[in-house]
Amino acid sequence: MRISGSRPRSVVGLIGFPLGHTISPAFQQAAFDYHSLPTVYEAWQTPPDGLTAALGRVRQPDCLGMNVTIPHKEAILPLLDSVDEWARQIGAVNTVVNDGGRLHGHNTDATGFLRALREPGAFEVSGKRVVLVGAGGVARAVVLTLARECAASLAIANRSVARAEALAVLARSAGLPAEVIDISDESGLGAAIGAADLLVNATSVGMWHAAPGSPVAAAHLHDRLFVHDLIYNPVETVLLREAERAGARTLNGLSMLVFQGAAAFELWTSRRAPVGLMMARAVDALARAQAESGEGDG
Ligand code: NAP
Repeated sequence: MRISGSRPRSVVGLIGFPLGHTISPAFQQAAFDYHSLPTVYEAWQTPPDGLTAALGRVRQPDCLGMNVTIPHKEAILPLLDSVDEWARQIGAVNTVVNDGGRLHGHNTDATGFLRALREPGAFEVSGKRVVLVGAGGVARAVVLTLARECAASLAIANRSVARAEALAVLARSAGLPAEVIDISDESGLGAAIGAADLLVNATSVGMWHAAPGSPVAAAHLHDRLFVHDLIYNPVETVLLREAERAGARTLNGLSMLVFQGAAAFELWTSRRAPVGLMMARAVDALARAQAESGEGDG
């Protein structure tokens, strides 16, 4: 809701393609309104050849910055004036801040992932054995966070083994002992999960309109495990349902989405993000998006 009778004096964009029924505008706008800031948060559907034009828009004085999602997170790096060290290591930018026409890139996915585990999850990574399924874009942020937070060990399972190998090299270079498992190697995956404290799903298996089912056989799940599925649409994936049945503690990806958004809000505004309100709006918006067409962002 805008301040009555006033026109917005600033804007923040979200670029991606396709954006579908993105829920970011709903919870970001709630944060601007909470602080009575005259800012609108808009979804700017931006195909790959529209990235340069979008950057021109963000440099305008009325634009605080933008969020960046697939397919621009990696391509945008060389086009920015600066990229912080953490985003450079991850190799992806999801938040851009406009500082007087100079564009600075950040990555708040790692912050979102860690804060979700710590706060609603009440799970500490330090000293824990982790299995990560998936080795795509978000998995890099997960691996570097696990290394920084001193996880004890990491096993990476992915359909494309070469991608998992590259991620394992990154983990080891950051000081985290890492091994690779072919996702179709059931006995290897079962043994790794059997010994693990934390299982993270960073594949799109189980996501609405993507591959159905679970990336992991239900038989591998157990009650000493914490399962963090980064998917939030649907809020309860097959993996989470089966994990609950096995007695594991579980967390879906909605907290990570809201916490990465909260960190971005704080970068644009230097105000504290009202995360409880943002979460409530995210839940409502997701329910609406699912009712309308069953799509979301991420
Ligand atoms: P991405 O770069 O496209 O990676 C997709 C991953 O899923 C790859 O590891 C891919 O394996 C795997 N995969 C896809 N289809 C598969 C199938 N049929 N069987 C087995 N593996 C399959 O995507 P991303 O950006 O990393 O996102 C991954 C997931 O994280 C998505 O579900 C997304 O919604 C979620 N996410 C959540 C948040 C959040 O804030 N909660 C933020 C970002 C992403 P290959 O390498 O073999 O292709």
